[in-house]
Amino acid sequence: MTRILTGQCRCRAVTYEAADEFAYAVNCHCSNCRRTTGSAFKPLAGIAIEKIKIAAGSENLMVYGDEPDNYLHCGKCGSLLYAVVKNGTYAHVTMGTLVDTPSIRPTHHVFVGSKAEWFEITDDLPQYDESD
Ligand SMILES: [Zn+2]
Ligand SMILES: [Zn+2]
Repeated sequence: MTRILTGQCRCRAVTYEAADEFAYAVNCHCSNCRRTTGSAFKPLAGIAIEKIKIAAGSENLMVYGDEPDNYLHCGKCGSLLYAVVKNGTYAHVTMGTLVDTPSIRPTHHVFVGSKAEWFEITDDLPQYDESD
């Protein structure tokens, strides 16, 4: 049976549910991911769009960007829950918003060419200047 993972924004106004069936996971160091999260990088996990849904609080969503690809934030606290990518077919979940622990782990670093100078990557995962 498919395991269902829950994720939430900081203020808990929005909840999503995703199957524990992520296709890939990476740490993205691009400037957009850094700015969106306020972090050195964004750990993200990709999943087919039909395997994720907003489970509660959809009236609180703030959608940034135009169809078909955009960013789903909580409109109250601002947390980025996930991005809709690849022409609306995939979601990139911000792994930090997951309440439950997924089976997948980030396997490499992408957009290391845009990495913050003040941050040092100290693991042995492969690094790519742009996408893999
Ligand atoms: Zn919130
Ligand atoms: Zn990025």
